[in-house]
Amino acid sequence: MPAVTIQLIAEDPNTQARAGLLTTPHGEVPTPAFMPVGTQATVKGVTVDQLKQLGASMILGNTYHLGLRPGHELIRSLGGLHRFSGWDGPILTDSGGFQIFSLAQLTKITEHGATFQSHIDGRAIELTPEHSIDIQESLGSDVAMVLDHVIALPNEPAVIEDAMERSIRWAKRCLEHASREDQARFAIVQGGLDPELRRQCAQEMSKEDFEGFAIGGLSVGEPPAEMYKTIEATIPYLPKAKPRYLMGVGTPIDLVEAIARGVDMFDCVMPTRNGRNALAFTATGSMKLRNAKFREDARPLEEDCPCPACRHSRAYIRHLFVAGEMLGPILLSIHNLTFYQRLVREARTHIQAGTYSAFLDQQRQIWNPPQSD
Ligand SMILES: [Zn+2]
Repeated sequence: MPAVTIQLIAEDPNTQARAGLLTTPHGEVPTPAFMPVGTQATVKGVTVDQLKQLGASMILGNTYHLGLRPGHELIRSLGGLHRFSGWDGPILTDSGGFQIFSLAQLTKITEHGATFQSHIDGRAIELTPEHSIDIQESLGSDVAMVLDHVIALPNEPAVIEDAMERSIRWAKRCLEHASREDQARFAIVQGGLDPELRRQCAQEMSKEDFEGFAIGGLSVGEPPAEMYKTIEATIPYLPKAKPRYLMGVGTPIDLVEAIARGVDMFDCVMPTRNGRNALAFTATGSMKLRNAKFREDARPLEEDCPCPACRHSRAYIRHLFVAGEMLGPILLSIHNLTFYQRLVREARTHIQAGTYSAFLDQQRQIWNPPQSD
């Protein structure tokens, strides 16, 4: 019996969008789903009760960060990541592949694994596919991601192909090494922006007994149109009956476009990171709260938003940022996470009603070209 399954509830007649229900050892997740990022066993500035209230059902933790600090052995001895963080719902943990690429220093990749210097204290660390699984089994997440070889884009075709093929071999090693029956393993499809490599990788990964499939290595600076094309080149080769997860993406319109192409799950730091920087997402576009034009604006960020930030005026939130008060970043993080949860819920409602293409058109008008005031 797989630890994680998806039941498809509705498919949009005019796009590839689908609505489903993910079942995990720690509860159910309606899809499309957006997972707030809790890299350090906390979604920055937001309590677990607030996460529940704003509608999140699954969150993300990180192997690289938690393995380095406080250490997975400590977290295991304190009852695992659910008990340690206080979040009792589903958790997905990333494998560390992306952080080795983006954060670690002096990284060297061999067939055995990655060696690198910790970005915290410079000590030499080795992360192999087996070690990444050991860490994630100690953390006890509901979904473990395989270790992948992430590279910068653009890159030489031979480099992209080599990293893609290594990612397949590492994924198989992760699967062979894994032992927890209450944890699902998701593969990560790599292959840069090359549709042929993406197809090959998706087909190879699909032969293995993974419980879900992720598309990795995107949203690393390529134009959105290239990202959407790469999703289109990958999805048809993934099993229909298993969840599909687009890693580290993205803007509101990226989510809506990817859902139209058949993606079920997302994670991104965008709502929280932008919230800390005074940028609010709303149904009519984004809003920079430090802007002087909000100085006397008595309206909430959004009239119909149920979040605690929207009990206040734009003028008050602007004041918090200008005064350097910590409540400003907290309130905008909560608002933006609420916005993302409402967006995927609305997408789900339209998929169930068969009206997703009209919703997609409406969202394109709001976000293309990006509106910003
Ligand atoms: Zn709000």
